[in-house]
Amino acid sequence: MGETILIADDSAEIRKFLEQTVLMPAGYTVYSVGDGMSALTLIRELRPDVVLADQHMPSLKGLDLIRRVKRDLPMLPMILMTAEGSEALAVDAMRAGAVDYLVKPFDAEHLLAAVGRALAAARRGTDVLKAQAEARAGAQSLEHQLHELEALAHIGRTVTAMLDLDQVLTTVVESAVGLTEAEEGSLLLLDEESGELTMRASMNFDDEFARTFRLRVEDSLAGQVIATGQPVILDEGAPQKIKTSYLVHSLLYVPLRARGRTIGVLGVDNRKAGRTLTKEDMTVVMAMADYAAIAIENARLFNRSESERVQLETILAQTEDGVIVVDAENRLLLINRSAAEALEAHEPLVGRSLVETLEHPQVLALLRAPGNAPRREEIELKDGRVVNAQRTPIEGVGQALVMQDITHLKELDRIKSEFVTTVSHDLRSPLTAILGYVELIDRTGPINDQQREFIRRVGSSVEQITALISDLLDLGRIEAGLDSARENTPLTVLARYAVETLRNTADMRKVTLEVNLPEDLPLVNGDPIRLRQMIGNLLDNAVKYTPAGGHVGIEAVAEADQVILRITDTGPGISPADQPYLFDKFFRASNAPDDVSGTGLGLSIVKSIVDSHNGRIWVDSALGKGSRFTVVLPAVAP
Ligand code: ADP
Repeated sequence: MGETILIADDSAEIRKFLEQTVLMPAGYTVYSVGDGMSALTLIRELRPDVVLADQHMPSLKGLDLIRRVKRDLPMLPMILMTAEGSEALAVDAMRAGAVDYLVKPFDAEHLLAAVGRALAAARRGTDVLKAQAEARAGAQSLEHQLHELEALAHIGRTVTAMLDLDQVLTTVVESAVGLTEAEEGSLLLLDEESGELTMRASMNFDDEFARTFRLRVEDSLAGQVIATGQPVILDEGAPQKIKTSYLVHSLLYVPLRARGRTIGVLGVDNRKAGRTLTKEDMTVVMAMADYAAIAIENARLFNRSESERVQLETILAQTEDGVIVVDAENRLLLINRSAAEALEAHEPLVGRSLVETLEHPQVLALLRAPGNAPRREEIELKDGRVVNAQRTPIEGVGQALVMQDITHLKELDRIKSEFVTTVSHDLRSPLTAILGYVELIDRTGPINDQQREFIRRVGSSVEQITALISDLLDLGRIEAGLDSARENTPLTVLARYAVETLRNTADMRKVTLEVNLPEDLPLVNGDPIRLRQMIGNLLDNAVKYTPAGGHVGIEAVAEADQVILRITDTGPGISPADQPYLFDKFFRASNAPDDVSGTGLGLSIVKSIVDSHNGRIWVDSALGKGSRFTVVLPAVAP
């Protein structure tokens, strides 16, 4: 049988003429097609000995056909036929690799001669030609690889820079198709709930088909890839019916892996014959699949953090507390609705500096305050509300200000102190009257001894009630934080006053006072009246509970940046069981003597005063031996 010749020409007449009148009679086997793409496919399939290609053809022009074929089959002689007959085209034809160039019209003899030459040259297969071709093919394949690498790198960059997942996946599919020169491609994702694969991105598929595409995992080739996690190549040899609806000639499916699982399949295929998919194609498509998997994973993470961000934003926006976050340069990073409303912040907010946005002097001062320590301040707003503003530094961000509306608490506070004042007045006045009249009784006439004793008891009870009321009122005021007067105070001076006040009582009770209060102790920042009260209560207890002949000591020392006050006595001591409750309201120890009156509020007041001065207090005591109360207060830096 003669050599095979393929004719590619869009004119059926010319094909018929060349085939039946010229070439077949000359003993050649002839095939003919009417367009460039079909010619390309057929050439790959048939491997003819000579190709006659017309320049003017649909889908692929003669020159382009020659160029494409030369890439795969550099030794195949190809002749370009053209009606144009320009010199430039002739040069292009030679450059593209055509062995000859025939201008229409040409006669049969001319054509046969050209075919003969082409075949002879091909048959001779001179070493030079072969070597040249091989070199060219080698260079071309290197160039091809280079092109492929460049494309991969480019796609990698593009894909990682894109945020829109659909766009990323479409680019991946298009790149996979482009790099493998396949006809079509698709990216299928597994829907875990339904166990079906859906087409998330595609190229050269009908839109409607892609949109409605559903494939069960169990009965599909793609499903097999999902199940095994292994890629699949089907080639020419065994055309298979996949996806039930159409036939492909070659196909390549690779798994998409994320977080150790196969989440989908990236595939390319050819419906027409003539094009196989290779191991190299598989490597390329797998790289593409990795990009897709990374993009899907990124999108998942992004969506998750985005939804968390939205949730947080909603919470912040809805919360009643005002929240402001600024960076290290005091530029606004976040301000929620509540804060913006309360401070009448100027739009636009985020990104602007504080001074441009807010006017409230206290808020500005609080956020500008030097140092990194958290700070708290009560701030009155223009509308009369009072907020508790807490500034907190945030490492690596800047600082946050949270404002809590405490208007109702302030109001309660006001009501409480009003109540305290009223009660103190309303209760004390009648008591003063009782005491006054009781004292007047013996002036109105003679009274017997029993009456005198009763009058004494009434008087002492009234005094007790008065003391109780004063203690209660004091405690109320101290606990409510109403005594906020602070000045730098010499503790030892206050202590000496307290000692002098008690000296008479001590003498009467035959208790010795031992005083050690140095002049040069550091000052304490506090309310002098309350501090004096605190020392007085402790000394009073010590003198009160220590039996005749005992000793009471008071001493003060400075240690580190603290002033330490110790009040000791040789009294009855306090049992370990009672010690934990000593500072509770109305508590009196089990061994408190009946004849020593008290309200059980003295030490509660002491504790409240020490607490409100950021100090500490504790007791060391042993039954029958005595007690030592220690108060530690922060000293003012000299
Ligand atoms: P009171 O008015 O009863 O003295 P305080 O709160 O001052 O109330 O003291 C609570 C109780 O602690 C006292 O009732 C007493 O039993 C005990 N206490 C306080 N100071 C001493 C002390 N120096 N020695 C022994 N017991 C004391």
